[in-house]
Amino acid sequence: MNDLILPATLPYGRRATRLNTLASGHELEGYLNFCSALCRAQQVQAEVFLPEAQQSLIWQNGAPCHDPQAVLQGRWPAVLKGLLKQMVDPVTPWQSTVMRLQQMSAAQVQTCAQQILTLQWHELDRGAAPFVAAALQVDFLLRAQASTAPALTNHTQAHCPVCGFLPVGAILHDQRRYLHCALCESEWHHIRAQCVECNSGRDMGLWSLQEGARMVAETCGDCHGWLKQLDQDAQHDLMADDLATLELDAALSEQGFERISPNLLLFPGAF
Ligand SMILES: [Zn+2]
Ligand SMILES: [Zn+2]
Repeated sequence: MNDLILPATLPYGRRATRLNTLASGHELEGYLNFCSALCRAQQVQAEVFLPEAQQSLIWQNGAPCHDPQAVLQGRWPAVLKGLLKQMVDPVTPWQSTVMRLQQMSAAQVQTCAQQILTLQWHELDRGAAPFVAAALQVDFLLRAQASTAPALTNHTQAHCPVCGFLPVGAILHDQRRYLHCALCESEWHHIRAQCVECNSGRDMGLWSLQEGARMVAETCGDCHGWLKQLDQDAQHDLMADDLATLELDAALSEQGFERISPNLLLFPGAF
């Protein structure tokens, strides 16, 4: 398997289905169903914008998510408009947020996008954030798909070699560990049992909610960072299953560990 895997297909429809399945009877049922609706809308918008993405500007440098010009030039504001149109539904709890976003100025939306990409989440409009992040994800994924994969020379790299953002967690493919970009969904090989945050391998721990769980958390005793790791199969989805296992986050936080991997469907306090 290649060391760097660009997203070959659109993941959102499958993710929406997985979120729906996970939502049934879950204590976060309402939120998981919201995320499912948002992912369903992402799939539609990604299909709409796919043809033009294939013939447009490709990012040349390694960290476009930190380049305000590259972000400004993206097609995500148009994707966001499409997403909001699809998410209009008067009976849902997110209706007022959708309407508020439709009234926001371009500058306000740009500010929200820049805060998401630079992880300045303390000042973030948490109601608007999941929608803006969903539009950014579609834009970045389509550009990643149209890119040529750079050769991966560093196998202890914490940032996505394609877009420069952080991983949402790790996935095992045939027992090799890959980090999965929270933004553009590229995956890159990262040496196992070595901390993604500080590169130490001295005091790593694995935690899970049940014996034999496919989703585990890897902790580092040196920097106290942690991230989730999924033993991938056809059914599970790292981003969706992450949201359904937030008990693990709470338990590790109680142990004094700090999560190092953002999930762009998860902005605490969004609703
Ligand atoms: Zn990326
Ligand atoms: Zn560490």
